[in-house]
Amino acid sequence: VDSGAERILAGLDPEQRTAVTAPAGPVCILAGAGTGKTRAITHRIAYRVTAGEIAARHVLAVTFTARAAAELRARLGALGVPGVQARTFHGAALRQVRYFSSRLLAGREMPELLDSKVRLVTLAAARVGLRTDRAAARDLAGEIEWAKSSLVEPGEYVVAAAKALRETPHDPAKVAEVFAGYEKVKRANGVIDFEDMLRAAVWGIEEHPDVGEQIRAQYRHLVVDEYQDVNPLQQRLLDAWLGGRDDLTVVGDASQTIYSFTGATSAYLIDFPRLRRDAVVVRLVRDYRSTPQVVGLANAVIRQARGAEARLRLELHGQRPPGAEPDLRIFADEPAEAAAVAVRCRDLIAAGTPAREIAVLFRTNAQSEAYEKALAEAEVPYQVQGAERFFERPEIRQALVALRAATRSTPGDMPLVPAVVEALAAVGWAPDAAPPGGAARESWEALAALVQLAEEYAATPVLLPIGEAASVERPVSLTDFCAELGRRAAAQHVPTVEGVTLASLHSAKGLEWDAVFLVGLSDGTLPTSYAKTPEQVEEERRLLYVGVTRAREWLWLSYASARSPGGRARRPCRFLPQFDRSSGGRTVEAPGGSRKPDRRRTQIVSCRVCGATLLAGADRKLGRCATCPSDLDEELLDRLRDWRARVAGAQKVPAYVVFTDA
Ligand code: ATP
Ligand code: MG
Repeated sequence: VDSGAERILAGLDPEQRTAVTAPAGPVCILAGAGTGKTRAITHRIAYRVTAGEIAARHVLAVTFTARAAAELRARLGALGVPGVQARTFHGAALRQVRYFSSRLLAGREMPELLDSKVRLVTLAAARVGLRTDRAAARDLAGEIEWAKSSLVEPGEYVVAAAKALRETPHDPAKVAEVFAGYEKVKRANGVIDFEDMLRAAVWGIEEHPDVGEQIRAQYRHLVVDEYQDVNPLQQRLLDAWLGGRDDLTVVGDASQTIYSFTGATSAYLIDFPRLRRDAVVVRLVRDYRSTPQVVGLANAVIRQARGAEARLRLELHGQRPPGAEPDLRIFADEPAEAAAVAVRCRDLIAAGTPAREIAVLFRTNAQSEAYEKALAEAEVPYQVQGAERFFERPEIRQALVALRAATRSTPGDMPLVPAVVEALAAVGWAPDAAPPGGAARESWEALAALVQLAEEYAATPVLLPIGEAASVERPVSLTDFCAELGRRAAAQHVPTVEGVTLASLHSAKGLEWDAVFLVGLSDGTLPTSYAKTPEQVEEERRLLYVGVTRAREWLWLSYASARSPGGRARRPCRFLPQFDRSSGGRTVEAPGGSRKPDRRRTQIVSCRVCGATLLAGADRKLGRCATCPSDLDEELLDRLRDWRARVAGAQKVPAYVVFTDA
């Protein structure tokens, strides 16, 4: 072995070395988060290439997100091994079908790839007489995705759904009909969906021996990261690539299975050593990523596992020097939680942590809006990962069009919130309907967030012209609200090169940051209230585990005990008894509530020089009247500081103050 290869072994522990130096053949690493699984596979590839055993171009490494694939390429590049194909399953399948299109498509054009099933599902559902609003269509689309990923044909759906204990969005026989209809409409339209792309890759190999031969000549060494989230269709593609060969390295952590709602299962990972008896099986337990304090919390989440996962007992052992205890906080409402997180991000950055080393993670993408707003207000750069920014979501863009159209037809004196609700009904959103399940939930919640923005906007005291008597109620118009949304959308579109990452827990898999905020940890959000079966609740717990284990140095966990000021009380995430003070956890109750102007908590003061009635902005404007502008007197400033400390809790939380000639 040459010295280059030897160098690659430095910085690996004995178990990792076993995996890295194992001869050609099946290798399986079963290990918890942060134990160096991804490090082991990148080093295994680099070691074998550097030692001259294999060629980089003959390796295919697959994972589940584009960012994770990019991370693999970056780590391999850093090890001096460029040119390895690291792709997502879809990316690899797409490339293969394109490459062999003349053989597989018989000269036809590559069909267009549907990025969403919803439109065609709506058509198919209408044909069998099912309710076809967007929410219902999304649920059905989610169910069809599960079936296709699980290799279930329309004719087999009813039996398979019962066997898998699916909570079907409709009578299973009806779902099967929609499924069959969807396949038909899709064919008639000459388009394909993501699962079809994987199937095309599988059939290309299974039915065209020459294609299979070429592919196998190309992909001689296969590596799969995050193998616990493979679904039957992806496994079938993996088997097709292998074609009975066995130079395959898989790594995964059954405690991080978080995609079983789309058909993923950790069974392939768990059964791997049994099914391939000659496999080199490695277990890693040293956690190199996180402080022992973070590891301790992660273990506490793992210990609550039930069923098969509990029997695996993969406890982590922290290797890093001690750090800060995870910090648990309860806030009065969501805007207060978001503002406090934003201020902490700002402080961390000011103290030298790069913004790219900070992440705010949440359960659903709809939660991101509050944080986008709070970070923008605190002037902290950020980027939203794995999802479009709030105002770029298709349903929000559609809603904005509907709202603008409504400004032309809504009577001027109609209160804002009902006007918004009415306009949103035009895009299929219903305030009194229960939130839908499955894929439809996020868009329902995004639209609900829009209504919440309208509620907040309507409750915000408006800047009254000088001289106009305070507390005169002025109705807020839909036109004003649309203009406000336009301003916010514009503020969000400013691209940031490097910023705090806002990401859903699902898209954070495999990644790590110095500082991680896990926000919105209330029961009903995590676990989501839609998790009904014990299996679904377990998946929520695993999501929490994934979130906790993303942090290297600092971990903050928080939830708001009400959504908006004075709202209905909520309970903390059931997997975190630490939130309960009686358990001795480090729970800090943040005093006060929202920094947002709330009429019940408005401090009425006036400018002693001009007597202006005005709305002054965040803390930096506190010393000055925004109209004349003269310095405010010390006594008034003291009163405002006092008020701010009480209402906003922390000195630096931006607080709005209303000045008025009381
Ligand atoms: P996850 O399950 O979250 O994907 P993982 O098991 O893939 O985690 P890695 O991302 O490979 O873990 O490693 C976690 C961190 O620990 C990385 O920063 C990695 O560089 C570091 N690390 C891994 N092994 C070692 C080691 N032997 N010595 C020092 N640092 C290590
Ligand atoms: Mg990893």
